[in-house]
Amino acid sequence: MRLPLTAMQHIYSDPTFQMATDQFDLIADHLQIPKDLRERLKFPKRSIGVSVPVRMDDGSTKLFHGYRVQHTLAMGPTKGGTRFGPTVTMGEVAALAMWMSWKCALAGLPYGGAKGGVYLDRRVSVNELERLSRRYMQEMIPFIGPHTDIIGPDMGTNEQVMAWFMDTYSAYTGYSVPEIVTGKPVSIGGTQGRREATGRGIVYLIERAANILKMKLAGGRAVVQGFGNVGAVAAQGLAYKGGMKVIGISDVTGAYHNERGVDVRAAERYALENGDLAGFSGAEPIPAEDLLTLCCDVLIPAAVSGVIHGGNAAKIQCRILAEGANGPTTVDADRVLFERWNEIFVIPDILCNAGGVIVSYFEWVQSLQSLFWNETEVVDRLFRLLETSFSSVIRRAREEKIPHRLAALAIGVERVMKARQYRGLFP
Ligand code: NAD
Repeated sequence: MRLPLTAMQHIYSDPTFQMATDQFDLIADHLQIPKDLRERLKFPKRSIGVSVPVRMDDGSTKLFHGYRVQHTLAMGPTKGGTRFGPTVTMGEVAALAMWMSWKCALAGLPYGGAKGGVYLDRRVSVNELERLSRRYMQEMIPFIGPHTDIIGPDMGTNEQVMAWFMDTYSAYTGYSVPEIVTGKPVSIGGTQGRREATGRGIVYLIERAANILKMKLAGGRAVVQGFGNVGAVAAQGLAYKGGMKVIGISDVTGAYHNERGVDVRAAERYALENGDLAGFSGAEPIPAEDLLTLCCDVLIPAAVSGVIHGGNAAKIQCRILAEGANGPTTVDADRVLFERWNEIFVIPDILCNAGGVIVSYFEWVQSLQSLFWNETEVVDRLFRLLETSFSSVIRRAREEKIPHRLAALAIGVERVMKARQYRGLFP
């Protein structure tokens, strides 16, 4: 029987938050974290909800709802992306902020986790998007700063939105503050290699997993759900660097299958020109739910959370599951996948998609110092940090005979917990 919700749980009531806290409870049991510390680690430190009035192109004013959650302040400033989309609630943002805390700690970055977003359930014009972005940023100004909370991109936002965020913040301070956002264009202080960072990191980790499994990627089959910043870059890496056939891709409009291999560059061009993959002729449309169960060597969910669940986990037919999205796998699905550990090598989200925040960290450091690195330096440092995280997760999983997700989360949660304990309780 479910217990009545406390006021705090009401604020965050959302399936994604439930999933993140269920996961956290498993880790807390594994690490035997005392009850009072559990609560402090689980619930966000600060959660901000704002009304964002925007003048629409037709002259009307529409009120949007925006959020920002700063999960823990024990590790340094907070860091996290901004999601514009139809799933955004305070609870979803809180779940994503919590995962960011464990992710940053696992990668050894000096950040606590944060996340933000605006509930957006319709297409908006570029002008409306600009006004929405600027007004959201303006509402956030009292709560963020280059040493308080640094904003980045996530689903539904991009380099252009980051540029508007930075410009709005800079107009307020009276001078340019590039270090307030990451994922901005290189011409205004962004870093080389940020746009590709998450996808590139995913491909690096897939290669490491294949190496452990003594599996050849070239000629193998890959399936990618989501064809945005993360999915499209990862698909390109697998196709053109790894020599794989990408037999299935998808986006919000549906899923597309071509057993001979999709021409990934053509698909990317098509999506750029048309806004999405609807009508792409280089593959056959298939039901969206069939994409994840296609027989393949590598499966990358790179869109929304909860897509691998109790209902389809037993039907997944891949050798490597590389979680590009945040929270693509539910706790129910995890139980099934753990039973199948011999068949499916899971690279859990907080490890797999960490390339984005790692290069965002590099961008923040470069912006603070006004000293810029070339792409080779960025990629080299990215791979070194990913290698350290990957090895520590594999080692811990082997030593404690636990799934990769539990190992990754245990390392992240433990580091945050130690920081909390060292800093003590004020007053
Ligand atoms: P994006 O907005 O660039 O692309 C998202 C893609 O997913 C689009 O192709 C969209 O059409 C598709 N999509 C949306 N809803 C879908 C659905 N229900 N089914 C199938 N496809 C759907 O976003 P992104 O930056 O590529 O982020 C994708 C995922 O990766 C998110 O979970 C995000 O939190 C995570 N992530 C992103 C980064 C980053 O650097 N951008 C870093 C770490 C994690």
